[in-house]
Amino acid sequence: MNVLETVKILFNNIFRINSADKLVNKDPQIIDKPNINTLPKHIKILNDYNINIKNSIPWQFLVIHHSATVDTSYNDFDAIKKFHMSWKNMKNGTIINEIEAKKLLQDSSMAKYIKAPFKDIAYNFLFEFVGNNCIFHNGRNLSETGAHAIGFNGQKGDRLGIGICFIGNYSVQKPSPELLSFSYLIVKSLIIYYNIPISNVIGHFETFILRGVEISKDCPGKLFSMAEYRKQLMDFKI
Ligand SMILES: [Zn+2]
Repeated sequence: MNVLETVKILFNNIFRINSADKLVNKDPQIIDKPNINTLPKHIKILNDYNINIKNSIPWQFLVIHHSATVDTSYNDFDAIKKFHMSWKNMKNGTIINEIEAKKLLQDSSMAKYIKAPFKDIAYNFLFEFVGNNCIFHNGRNLSETGAHAIGFNGQKGDRLGIGICFIGNYSVQKPSPELLSFSYLIVKSLIIYYNIPISNVIGHFETFILRGVEISKDCPGKLFSMAEYRKQLMDFKI
């Protein structure tokens, strides 16, 4: 089986790993197919997602974010999705109701902080620990433009960037090695499939540099080294 076929199979299924490198045998949805010899032994494939990679946008970049929130042992994906799909006050990062939002939009000092609900979570994919497992969350479909980085969302005139979020705050702690190595498999699969050069795997803060504007966010956090991430990704074999 060649690499591209492997990648297609990976994306027609989805997988999780146990952070202690043990097989996750409890979940009845775990299936043994496909037989991919190169897939690390501690990874099992789930069949509860079916990502339609065929109708997707021809992505050219991959933009890495952090959620800047604490990754609890619960499913934080749902909270992030709810936040993105609500009216929100970005000054203090809270969900507000529509009446409150409309009132604040009249206030010239506050209007810039008020954001309308997105139609879906901003990112295409998210990585998170839930309990002891590294989990891959399917966000926006790959056929949909994103809402994660100005100029890189695949909208008109934008560069075409897949948005990937690591749940956690990497301004205050380093990303865990388990979550990083889990992500290499998926990110490497994506860049092989779309023929994206490693240099186009960028942190959100690097999108400001490429746009020639002042860097206004350090996302994915100063303790998440993009140079190191690209180096590890380059060496990672699938
Ligand atoms: Zn970001």
